[in-house]
Amino acid sequence: MQYRKLGKSGLLVSEMALGNWITHGAQVDDTTAQACVDAALDSGITTFDTADVYSETRAESILGESLKGIRRESIELCTKVFHPTGTGHNDKGLSRKHIMEACHASLRRLQTDYIDVYYAHRFDSTVSLEETFLAFSDLVRQGKVLYVGVSEWTAEQIKLGAALARELRVPFVASQPQYSMLWRVIEAEVIPACEREGIGQVVWSPLAQGILSGKYAPDKPIPEGSRASTIAGSPFFERLAGQWLRKEVLQAVERIRPIAQESGLTLPQLAVAWVLQNPQVSSAIIGASKPEQVKENVKAAGVTLDTEVMRQINTILNGVSEFDPSKTG
Ligand code: NDP
Repeated sequence: MQYRKLGKSGLLVSEMALGNWITHGAQVDDTTAQACVDAALDSGITTFDTADVYSETRAESILGESLKGIRRESIELCTKVFHPTGTGHNDKGLSRKHIMEACHASLRRLQTDYIDVYYAHRFDSTVSLEETFLAFSDLVRQGKVLYVGVSEWTAEQIKLGAALARELRVPFVASQPQYSMLWRVIEAEVIPACEREGIGQVVWSPLAQGILSGKYAPDKPIPEGSRASTIAGSPFFERLAGQWLRKEVLQAVERIRPIAQESGLTLPQLAVAWVLQNPQVSSAIIGASKPEQVKENVKAAGVTLDTEVMRQINTILNGVSEFDPSKTG
């Protein structure tokens, strides 16, 4: 594993992080969740990503349990606030009240005194940015949060946040957007805006939720046990199917397979290595339903892809990858 600075901060994060959306507390049992965390730790992953909303808060609790006994200083624990965690009118969003309450609840579930990176999971247009950043600032001063990030904010929202963060001296150093060779919407606006502010990208779904593993072959049924089969019938499935489970996407992925082979990599390794070629990416958050997937994917760490490989991938995915920055968020 290799470690990269998170934006302009002094914090080192592992260039691959383990996330537990959809898996812990939902798709996989607790023993498998523990095995995935253990596989991550064994391979040098030190950065763990979760959110209060994942599996209705169970994902945070399971991660906290799985990391019990691990030296706190040896890992980076990251979580998020915004989406509803209860039915009350204040149980969501980025108000001061919800941020404070959500942070305390996350600390309890994660069994820790502080969160390394605390993200605003989405932009909240109903609350003033000043209120949100003042709450983050207070959490930082209290030592409950070390660094602040945002997820799926547009370049404009990030610029406004960064100006306030400067004024309030909040270490706003991370942006968590979706990024993969299929989803490149951050390249035009979010990445340049963040680069100017010293904000690093901690990117999610580098395998496009498993599509870039090559398991979903065109004209074949969805494989049993895969994410697409597990979430069938949910709104998550509608999004996955609409975005990626389309013939032209799956056929393009098949055409990338030989490029991976020629590079001495598996398709999932190539997909993760691809996002890590971007120097603005501090870490790629992978998901895993089995420890073997972690063990396979971590071999993408430290891989350099040559320009010809990058060119061939661009050519194959021309017209398939999404670049439109207005799709951020
Ligand atoms: P990935 O794109 O890495 O997809 C992970 C899934 O792909 C696995 O659960 C598994 O699904 C499949 N997979 C992984 N490796 C392999 C392999 N080697 N061979 C075959 N299949 C494989 O990431 P996620 O979509 O899981 O997102 C990662 C993390 O990013 C989340 O856990 C979360 O922490 C974060 N995230 C953040 C969001 C945000 O709004 N900020 C939104 C979404 C995610 P299966 O085996 O079930 O098919």
